Amino acid sequence: MTDLPDLTDLPDSRELPDSPDMLAVVATRDGVYPASGLEAIAECHGRAVVFDIDGLQPAVLATWLVGVVDDIENIAAVVLPGSPDGRDLAPCLAALLQWPLLAGAVSVEPGGATVARRGGLVLEHHAIDTPFVATLQPGVRGIPADLQTPAIGVPGSPGSPNRPSSPGSPGPDPVVVSVSTPDASELDLVEASRILAVGAGLKHEGFVELAGRVAAELGMSLGATRVITDWGWLPFERQIGTTGAMINPDVYVALGISGAVQHISGLGEPDHIVSVNTDGNCPMAAMAETNLVCDAQRMLIALADRLQLEVDPGLRELVLETNQESTPGATGDAGQDD
Ligand SMILES: Cc1cc2nc3c(=O)[nH]c(=O)nc-3n(C[C@H](O)[C@H](O)[C@H](O)COP(=O)(O)OP(=O)(O)OC[C@H]3O[C@@H](n4cnc5c(N)ncnc54)[C@H](O)[C@@H]3O)c2cc1C
Repeated sequence: MTDLPDLTDLPDSRELPDSPDMLAVVATRDGVYPASGLEAIAECHGRAVVFDIDGLQPAVLATWLVGVVDDIENIAAVVLPGSPDGRDLAPCLAALLQWPLLAGAVSVEPGGATVARRGGLVLEHHAIDTPFVATLQPGVRGIPADLQTPAIGVPGSPGSPNRPSSPGSPGPDPVVVSVSTPDASELDLVEASRILAVGAGLKHEGFVELAGRVAAELGMSLGATRVITDWGWLPFERQIGTTGAMINPDVYVALGISGAVQHISGLGEPDHIVSVNTDGNCPMAAMAETNLVCDAQRMLIALADRLQLEVDPGLRELVLETNQESTPGATGDAGQDD
């Protein structure tokens, strides 16, 4: 038989003047707090329910938590840490309570939250005049040295007499149908250690698509210049530069990229830069460790062939057409089919 956290034993934060209505809900594992667990409690000025997962599934815990939340008056927001368990629990709880969910908040207050979007580039404030559930991103706020943390309780298991009343029985928990290997080419650019980036020099959307497959095969993340995202050939999330993602990979390969200041100022300090450009004097070539003065389209096709990837015959024809008008000064032969 397990014990429920004693809600009467919560820190008396109701006396706090500036955040009386928020409740942190923090799930620990074997007594260990998750990332941003203490931050969530600090965000709610110490008013919290802390319990150990104790092997229970999110839907079961969420149902139990509905009973807990129902027993507390005037809750304007329930704040969970943006940890794996918090992110599992939050949508279940929001769905059962029928409250809005604001995920990835950097700050929460009664009446709204500020959430980070587009990889942290944009902060959006959402004002909400109903109670809501929010998850707090790790590392976005400090933890006061004198933060009082409530004792860690253990929720009653389903059917336990200790279990508070809750509306309805827990729904079925998600079942794992399959586990997919993350696609490196779609990895968040900010976290990627190897990036293949495409620029206007590729000239045709088909080559950008091919670059995506080559990147995936090589375990690289696909990035782009603003020209490419402006043309709609890749989503904004793939844009590198002052108005895109600020990256810092070990390896950065630039295909048909001139190296405009707005682009290279987002590169960080890659250990290795490879430039593939018909213009051996462009800024990207000047900063590259390896400078291949050649046609990026041909280079891509050669790479795809080497990797035994399917190549649209139309792209091969485009390459031939491009070559007929190719830059006379090109000196590299990295684009040869061998
Ligand atoms: C306010 C502002 C913010 C901006 N923010 C960003 C940003 O965040 N990120 C960003 O990237 N840009 C940004 N830009 C745009 C930036 O100024 C450049 O226009 C852009 O980076 C150029 O992209 P590009 O290198 O793909 O194209 P281009 O500058 O047109 O370069 C194309 C390159 O391809 C080469 N080339 C041509 N044909 C071939 C071939 N067959 N094979 C190989 N190479 C070839 C050319 O020699 C050239 O060097 C911003 C601009 C402004 C005004």
